[in-house]
Amino acid sequence: MPVVSLQGVSKVYPPTTKGGQDVVAIDNVSLDVEAGDVYGIIGYSGAGKSTLVRLVNALERSTSGAILVNGQDIAALPERALREVRLGIGMIFQQFNLLNSRTVEGNIAYPLEVAGRSREERKARVAELLDFVGLTEKARAYPDQLSGGQKQRVGIARALATQPSILLADEATSALDPETTHEVLALLQRVNREFGITIIVITHEMDVIQTIATKVAVMDQGRVIERGDVFDVFSNPQHPASARFVGTVVKGVPSAAELAVLLKRHSGRIVTLSFRDADVDQTAVFGELTSAGIAFEVIYGGINEIQGRPFGHLTLSMTADAAVIDAALDRVRKLTTVTEVR
Ligand code: ADP
Repeated sequence: MPVVSLQGVSKVYPPTTKGGQDVVAIDNVSLDVEAGDVYGIIGYSGAGKSTLVRLVNALERSTSGAILVNGQDIAALPERALREVRLGIGMIFQQFNLLNSRTVEGNIAYPLEVAGRSREERKARVAELLDFVGLTEKARAYPDQLSGGQKQRVGIARALATQPSILLADEATSALDPETTHEVLALLQRVNREFGITIIVITHEMDVIQTIATKVAVMDQGRVIERGDVFDVFSNPQHPASARFVGTVVKGVPSAAELAVLLKRHSGRIVTLSFRDADVDQTAVFGELTSAGIAFEVIYGGINEIQGRPFGHLTLSMTADAAVIDAALDRVRKLTTVTEVR
């Protein structure tokens, strides 16, 4: 059973201006998040990601469709029961949303106080969480005495306080520098692996998806336009918008402008070879070209790795008789994907 299941969910807001049109923020989205997933949801600003988060943690109700959290349709629940559902969902935010008047330990204890846990229980849980996020030394510090990365670690500890089964991270690293981003993502990965907590990561940064997600859904104008295992979407995106996101972190395929320059600079026959996983034997591929007496040069490319699986693209300029190249490429096609450029 999925931990979160959206079934034909739409969210329509009334017009923001008089006489304007309804705003369809979420348009018939169906999505299953399985237990233990780190599910990335990526899209440009306005794609509907934050709305999706507010629907999943029941801060807003959908216009239509079913939203099942741990098998329970939250659209059908009364407000009192929703509080219980929210306790099972931790949230972390871009701006951390810490209480500045409370110390680090006070912030982490806050949800436990709201949930009516005893003093002893709170103390034990806070100590455990401080240790987990590596902030025991900062227990008595106030948020404005912390770096951005430390603040987000407090945010993570607070989100975990009531032992949720789901963690929603809404642009949780967007306010952090790249190095701190990677520290926070590493911590989220531990949350997932050590506690088995399912994480939904909302982001506009493909780098975040590449680093921690196992699955990804690409959103555009309220719809999910592509979804799948991160490796599949990164190594072979189907939708142009997904390809643009992938292109921000994966170098390998030249853009139209780069291609124009390459075509001017190189006179030979140009092809792009795509490699996916270790099952493509590069030595064999290049062996076909050299044994046919084809002189070639790698003029563009990159090999990337996601979840320990390599993939990439190499663009070659080759010189030899056209018939010789054709015959060699026929043999290469049996080994890997060949895209003719010129
Ligand atoms: P994202 O998080 O991907 O940037 P949002 O979920 O914030 O996207 O917004 C999706 C669309 O819904 C946008 O067009 C936005 O203007 C609209 N929207 C979001 N919240 C409201 C609201 N409360 N009232 C009217 N329109 C809204």
